[in-house]
Amino acid sequence: MANEPQSEANFVRQRDKGTGRDLTYPPLPDPLVVPVYDNHTHLEIGDGDQSLSVAEQLDRASSVGVRGVIQVGGDLETSRWSAMMAAREPRMLAAVAIHPNEAPVYDAAGTLDDALAEIAELATRPRVVAIGETGLDYFRTGPEGHASQQRSFEAHIEIAKRNGLALQIHDRDAHAAVIETLLRVGAPERTVFHCFSGDAEMARILADNGWYLSFAGTVTFKNADRLRAALAAVPRALLLVETDAPFLTPAPFRGRPNAPYLLPHTLRAMADHLETDVTILASQISSNTELVYGCWDAEPVNVIGIGTGSETRPFGGLA
Ligand SMILES: [Zn+2]
Repeated sequence: MANEPQSEANFVRQRDKGTGRDLTYPPLPDPLVVPVYDNHTHLEIGDGDQSLSVAEQLDRASSVGVRGVIQVGGDLETSRWSAMMAAREPRMLAAVAIHPNEAPVYDAAGTLDDALAEIAELATRPRVVAIGETGLDYFRTGPEGHASQQRSFEAHIEIAKRNGLALQIHDRDAHAAVIETLLRVGAPERTVFHCFSGDAEMARILADNGWYLSFAGTVTFKNADRLRAALAAVPRALLLVETDAPFLTPAPFRGRPNAPYLLPHTLRAMADHLETDVTILASQISSNTELVYGCWDAEPVNVIGIGTGSETRPFGGLA
């Protein structure tokens, strides 16, 4: 990526710095022996006291065994960016969509249909492997926006099915309505609940339908017993892992900027809770991820230094 123009190779949004938040990126974790993929991240959003370029993000990720990412768009600008970047970067595949909280905004401006038409066009681009994040969000959007969200969600499901793409669902405080919609209109063959936030009972409903559960840093939080019970309730063949970076930073770095290279913390917490070896869980989740999205054609992961300490890692900047 060294010869890409700077403006295209770097993030296009900046996360609100907030007040009193620690803006330093956490150190590199110990590398994973068996590599995994981050199936939901937003590299278009810069964060931290010094934002990392996309290349730096992906280099750090590969250096700890996170060998590829799904870069997820949430509006037209970020979906276009995701498709463009994935076309050029072997470690990145893209998902495109109008986020459920954006759908009412487009609808109010009279541009939702045009936006959905462009998402349908982006869905045909090379290395666009998923439609998302789409779904329903009753937390941020009040009842006045629900009809727009519903229409947008159903249009996205249709685009995913027409193109044989995976579906990445954003479901916030709308579990029943999301499940009802999928059952009524028919879910795409590969359907993923990104940042799964339900309980064990909901997890079993998803598993009965063959839908995937993607766990984010929230599963490492102290008060997340309900989420960990859900994790233990489903077949491992339906598990995925993600960062949702720059948000939802895993423990013990909650609140600091998140990035794909921090995924090993979440994976290790999941393995601990499932009382399984992290290498076994990593290989299961990697093969699940490839079944859902296909192949990244990533460069071979650089395993130099694994087990011998941080001094020989290919990216030593933070260790
Ligand atoms: Zn997201």
